[in-house]
Amino acid sequence: MAAAACAEAGTKNVSAGTRFAAGLARGENKHNAERDIMAALRRSHGVPLQCKISYVVIPIVEIRQVRRLAATTRAAEMKGRGKGRGRGRAARGMNFLKRKGVAEKVVVYKKWPMLLPSNFARAFAEAGADEWMQHHVNTDFNASARKSAIPVLVHGDEGQGKKERNLLILNWHVMGAQSNSVLFRKFPIAVIRSANLAYSSSGKCLTMEALQTAVVQSLAAVAHPSTAGIRGDATLQYCAGKGDWKFKKEWLCEKKDYSHLAFCRRCKCGQGPDEHWLDSLHLSFNKPEEVSANLHANVPDDLPFRRLQSWHMDMEACDLLHVLWLGAAKDSIGSVLLEIITFDPRFQASVSYDTALSQVATLVQDFCSQYGLDRSIVEELSLQKLHVDSIQYDYPLGLSKGFANKVLCSWAAHFLADTTVPELRRPAVMMWALMSFNYELERNDMFFDEATAKRIYSLGLLYVQLHTMCAKDCLAEHRPRWKVRPRMHSFLCECLCKLANGSKMNPKHFSCWSDEDYIGQSCAIGKARSIHATTIGLRLLQRLCLVLNAELAGP
Ligand SMILES: [Zn+2]
Repeated sequence: MAAAACAEAGTKNVSAGTRFAAGLARGENKHNAERDIMAALRRSHGVPLQCKISYVVIPIVEIRQVRRLAATTRAAEMKGRGKGRGRGRAARGMNFLKRKGVAEKVVVYKKWPMLLPSNFARAFAEAGADEWMQHHVNTDFNASARKSAIPVLVHGDEGQGKKERNLLILNWHVMGAQSNSVLFRKFPIAVIRSANLAYSSSGKCLTMEALQTAVVQSLAAVAHPSTAGIRGDATLQYCAGKGDWKFKKEWLCEKKDYSHLAFCRRCKCGQGPDEHWLDSLHLSFNKPEEVSANLHANVPDDLPFRRLQSWHMDMEACDLLHVLWLGAAKDSIGSVLLEIITFDPRFQASVSYDTALSQVATLVQDFCSQYGLDRSIVEELSLQKLHVDSIQYDYPLGLSKGFANKVLCSWAAHFLADTTVPELRRPAVMMWALMSFNYELERNDMFFDEATAKRIYSLGLLYVQLHTMCAKDCLAEHRPRWKVRPRMHSFLCECLCKLANGSKMNPKHFSCWSDEDYIGQSCAIGKARSIHATTIGLRLLQRLCLVLNAELAGP
């Protein structure tokens, strides 16, 4: 019976955006959309996942569309229109009023719907979803080492919801858990439109602080066997926070960020003459004994996380997707591609940069086919795609997708493997070092042994050093190549120096690859026609639960 309920409640009502158009075509748009989900929820009594949605009072910014005077005028205009809200007839409607700047923002305290991890885990266990508890700490370690701890990570990021408005989605997942779809292994905590976030006069995000307090209380309760109530003595253990720097800055109220000269959370680079942030030769900024103090000085004393037992600021590290594949490696691959078409004899016959680059794109696509990858990962290459308007002045950059950059680097490493062109030797070794670094991470599981950690560190360092050397030489030659951005320091400091200072943790587990996916897929569900902007905080949570129910009930 549950299966039938899920099939009906689940798949029909959780599909993404394009249903709007499809519905229009079939003439289904007369349906009251909000009613669909209510009916689906009512029918879903027998479904396995019965998670309570908690309401937590948080401050949010409410956008009042119009001032009273304007509202009265508008009401008068709208008279006689019945219940219709005049959708799509905005000649003198809402947009007109907004343009006049009469929308006002008010901070109000509201009960906000949240699926707290503690409640969720209990419900999920009761629903018989056992896969998410599987973790190698639980399956391989002996009893004294394991103590029934389930490591969890919390992630937050913004995606685009309806009408291209930003939507912040806070979510969590169990470290290392695998599933077919990212929607089945990552669980939502709260959803809020970015426009609703309230800030104090000093710039602190009050909404996030309140959400974090609720999350911390929930995680604290679920971290002890006596209060967890999951099953047996199982507990959830917070072990890392993920997200891009913008989210981290607001979520953790970080004092240092990219807009400051001193931007690094781990070191004091940029503050003294001897600690340059790009010193990849002596790593003068790396002072292991100061790391802990620096990290903790970067967040306020009253940060809710500080009340979570065993929390450490070191758990809030940067991730490889943002600092490497969309950071340093993105800067490298743009230059590598231009150096290849400039110096490699195989491209000497090309009449222009763009023809040579499209030749490269074809080679990359063949490379993808050869290794069973989708040919559309790199669809086209041109100077414009590499952000170059003027070959004299613009530094080339890689593509905007992390995975596409990874594939390009991999291709470049293969292509340059046997090069004899003097100008391409350094790029060849650079790409080899970068891809070997990546290969070692992919090949290894959670923890490295001593030798592997050392090898990974040396490979990463070699890559950064070669990039810096190339940058220095090209600067002397007045050629705009090898852009260097602070993200390169984050890679050096937060990934490589961390390994050098004794960490054996594989940084791939903190990468945001699948998290970005999750945000994308959730936002796509949020664009469904029957979700209204004002209730999206609740509706999206319900829908994501329906997706899980549909999965748990099986085919
Ligand atoms: Zn640093």
